[in-house]
Amino acid sequence: MRIPIIAGNWKMYKTEEEATQLVSDLKERLKDLTGIKVIVCPPFTALSSVKKSLQNSSILLGAQNIHWEEKGAYTGEISPVMLLTSGCKYVIIGHSERRSYFYETDKSVNLKIKSALQFDLSPIICVGEKLEERETNKTEEVIKIQIQGAYKDLTAQQAEKTIVAYEPVWAIGTGKTATPQQANEVHNFIRKLISAGFTRETAERINILYGGSVKPENSRELLEMSDIDGALVGGASLDAESFEGIVRSAVK
Ligand code: PEP
Repeated sequence: MRIPIIAGNWKMYKTEEEATQLVSDLKERLKDLTGIKVIVCPPFTALSSVKKSLQNSSILLGAQNIHWEEKGAYTGEISPVMLLTSGCKYVIIGHSERRSYFYETDKSVNLKIKSALQFDLSPIICVGEKLEERETNKTEEVIKIQIQGAYKDLTAQQAEKTIVAYEPVWAIGTGKTATPQQANEVHNFIRKLISAGFTRETAERINILYGGSVKPENSRELLEMSDIDGALVGGASLDAESFEGIVRSAVK
């Protein structure tokens, strides 16, 4: 049985003060919830303050990016040890915004995943096709390359610590959402790919989240689908009431 996961990707929003306000509000709103994992991924500058605000709360902390080296002359980068000591348990890797604006490749995504796992951080691995790829029936081809690249050289034991986020690029921040059926088909395909690369049991243990314009108004129908085990939420995670709505819709 996979416990649903709702993760908020705050992107480059929220100062330290705004971040602590948002998380204090969320902590209060979600304090009675069980049977679900809630993760917030603030910008690096707010991680430590958010960690302090999350004391005595079941809300978990994640980061939005990582460098694969433990330390070194990599100006502007953040290492797995830094994330770990800032209180992170999760890290988003290979978000489409990083792939398109910062030229991340399947190779760098794979390096980051391996490094995160080595330091006991669970990677939230983002994959997804662009609009032209969907329109030319290349969705499965693209997803296969991204998933096989991400999981290259991982053991089954490591794979079980990962989370996948299927985020069709055309649905991120656009207000367009994949239909529950469209999303579930790709989730099912991803699970089959993982099953082929490892074992069926491994694939069954991995949460596959949907991301792309998830809101309280559409989350329930998406989360009811058999292979959708949660959501990675961008815009709607910046507002406590909306995020609470999505989280509550995931509780069975
Ligand atoms: C995201 O950034 O991962 C995302 C899904 O964004 P949004 O919910 O705003 O589409």
